[in-house]
Amino acid sequence: MANTAFIGLGSNLGDKLKNCLEAIELIREIPGCDLGAKSGFYRTTPVGVEGQDWYVNGVISLRTVLPAHDLLNWLLGIEKRMGRVRKDKWDPRTIDLDILLFGQTVINHEDLTIPHPFMHLRRFVLVPMVQLAPDSIHPVLGKTMSWLLENFSDDGQTVTELEGK
Ligand code: ATP
Ligand code: CA
Ligand code: CA
Repeated sequence: MANTAFIGLGSNLGDKLKNCLEAIELIREIPGCDLGAKSGFYRTTPVGVEGQDWYVNGVISLRTVLPAHDLLNWLLGIEKRMGRVRKDKWDPRTIDLDILLFGQTVINHEDLTIPHPFMHLRRFVLVPMVQLAPDSIHPVLGKTMSWLLENFSDDGQTVTELEGK
C-alpha cells in the first residue's frame, strides 16, 4: 500500500537553496517513491541555538510504497552523500531531511519517531506544511496543520518566503 509522506528539508551551510534543490533531485531517484508537491522555500532564523546562520527550509510530499524505516535509510544516505558531517546535535548542516508525516502512521521507535516529535512546535515546518496540506491531520494531536499554525504561540522566529526561486 502506498503512503503519502511529508519530508522537511533544511540547510544552513553553503548554497542553502541549491542544497535543498539537489536533495529533492536525489529523493526523486529513490526507488518506490513518486515526488508529489513542493512547498516554497523559506529563510528562517534558527531557534534553540545561539549564533548560528539562518536556514533555508521547505517541505515536499511523496507517494511511497517503502516502509518508513527504508525511507529514513534512503534519506540518511542522501544526507551523507551530500557531505553532511554529524558532530554535535544542531551543528550547521548542508542538508537535513526529516520525515514529518507518513500517512496517518504513528511510530515510536528508538531511531524513528513519526510524526516528527517537534513538527508542531516549529513555525518553519508548519508554514510550508500548511502551504502543501492545510487539512492533513496530525495523527497524535488530532489537529489539522492549519489549526496548529493558527494556534502557534509566537516564539519570535521569522519565516520569510525566498524570492525568485
Ligand atoms: P531534530 O530532530 O530536532 O530535527 P536533527 O534533525 O538535527 O534534530 P539529526 O541529527 O538529523 O537530528 O537526526 C538524528 C536521528 O534522528 C537520525 O539518525 C534518525 O534516526 C532519528 N530520527 C527519529 N525520527 C526521525 C524522523 N521522523 N525523521 C528523520 N530522522 C529521525
Ligand atoms: Ca531536523
Ligand atoms: Ca534530521
